[in-house]
Amino acid sequence: MAVRVVIDRRRCIGAGTCLVLAPSAFQWRHGDFLKPELLDITTVDDDVLREVAAACPTQAIVLESVLESVETADLGI
Ligand code: SF4
Repeated sequence: MAVRVVIDRRRCIGAGTCLVLAPSAFQWRHGDFLKPELLDITTVDDDVLREVAAACPTQAIVLESVLESVETADLGI
């Protein structure tokens, strides 16, 4: 199952743990001091994203499971 990543910038304190653990998936947001943004989360495994979310000191990274399009079609959504 695919994972969607949401960064709550109000909770983020700019600790940078996400960038250290997954530098290909997160980067500093241009023009927004010490706030991250997604770069390319497909470059890391879902397990790494879970590790990043667990390591964020303020729980600013939220993972949401996303149903694959085929599964969605099967549900008739
Ligand atoms: S680990 Fe959490 S607090 Fe640190 S920069 Fe990333 S989102 Fe912000």
